[in-house]
Amino acid sequence: MSITGIKGMNDILPRDIAAWQFLEQQARQIFHTYGYKEIRVPVVEKTELFCRSIGETTDIVEKEMYTFEDKGNNSITLRPEGTAPVMRSFIQHKLYNETDSSKLYYMGPMFRYERPQKGRYRQFHQIGAEAIGEDDPRIDAQVLAMLSHFFEAVGITSVSLQINSLGCSACRPGYRDTLIEFLTRHIEDLCDDCKRRYATNPLRVLDCKAAGCKEATAHAPSVLEHLCPGCEQHFSSLQQHLHALEVEFEINSRMVRGLDYYTKTTFEMVTTALGSQNAVAAGGRYDGLIQELGGPELPGIGFAMGVERLVLLLGEDKLRAEPPQLFIAALGERAQNDGFILLNRLQRQNVYAHMDFSGKSLKAQMRLANRLGSTFALVLGDNELDTGSARLKCMAEGTEQEVKLDALAPTIAAALDAGAA
Ligand code: ATP
Ligand code: MG
Repeated sequence: MSITGIKGMNDILPRDIAAWQFLEQQARQIFHTYGYKEIRVPVVEKTELFCRSIGETTDIVEKEMYTFEDKGNNSITLRPEGTAPVMRSFIQHKLYNETDSSKLYYMGPMFRYERPQKGRYRQFHQIGAEAIGEDDPRIDAQVLAMLSHFFEAVGITSVSLQINSLGCSACRPGYRDTLIEFLTRHIEDLCDDCKRRYATNPLRVLDCKAAGCKEATAHAPSVLEHLCPGCEQHFSSLQQHLHALEVEFEINSRMVRGLDYYTKTTFEMVTTALGSQNAVAAGGRYDGLIQELGGPELPGIGFAMGVERLVLLLGEDKLRAEPPQLFIAALGERAQNDGFILLNRLQRQNVYAHMDFSGKSLKAQMRLANRLGSTFALVLGDNELDTGSARLKCMAEGTEQEVKLDALAPTIAAALDAGAA
């Protein structure tokens, strides 16, 4: 009996890797220009870190965490998200004392015990960014501009940006009470989960996907009407800055997010293309989190994008792997040997070149070149080796050109450049 992988935890196969590498490379490149540096933190942390940051009554902590006891009877958890571990590391290594470590990004696997379905898995991947230390709404706008820039760069247009403000410790408690009062009057219409949690985490009811809860809360008081002057000013400045940067957005006063640490600005990139898995990226401001985790009183804002969901939205052209640039078809023993050396020389010159060593006929070698989608093919026999030149065939067009064997790399590079132009 063969052993299979664990339910909801996927292999990312070579045929799909082009899309992943494209997204990762675009993120690295774009985040770099906004001043972000990569940070890599472990995939497991002390359980307490997530309980204290994400919140005891959130879905993640209540239902979705992979929590184990290790051999030393310590409770450890596979990270369900990236912000808490990154902040833990930021505090532990006193990165706030360094001039250039306040904008951080990360990418890697996250783990949540959820019911697997399209766009929802138990091991999934996030690319996220955090900007620590400033609460100016320009920072919020810049983070959202960077997020929009990323979506434009990778060619995903079927998304829209929704923003909201959840207020701060001055105004949220008042709103919370008002909301509890409203929910108490509608308790009969709420789902069992919400009946249980509305008193401890009333904002979550607004985010519940159950039809009854949606209907019951359709006329719930809006958080935006309960902001204190400071939060109101912050949210309206954010909108002005977004207009100035030409970032399109909609306001969604019902968006509350599933993590307790958010304050003021929250946002989601949503799509209609993935059914109920409609959030592709999400984030917000977390001005109290660093202090809550034992660090200095520093504000922060960040987001995480779900890579599996991004991949599902990518255009066909981004999913294709790059084919070999050259296939060397060798005729005879001498060409096999000299071709083998030529192959290596080309590879050292950064040409993606391929050759078959199994002694196939010329016809079979050309068939293989075709199947691999190689851009060019070159037939190498005694004659070519004697004269030092051969015919380079463009597989798509069927055209050929004479090339010097010792000038193959620059010739191919030039031909590829001309093709791309
Ligand atoms: P959802 O409402 O879909 O459960 P969430 O609010 O739990 O999302 P966040 O914690 O904000 O999600 O995570 C940020 C992003 O990570 C999401 O927008 C989504 O793209 C992705 N994500 C979250 N959970 C999963 C999962 N189980 N499988 C795949 N991607 C996920
Ligand atoms: Mg979730």
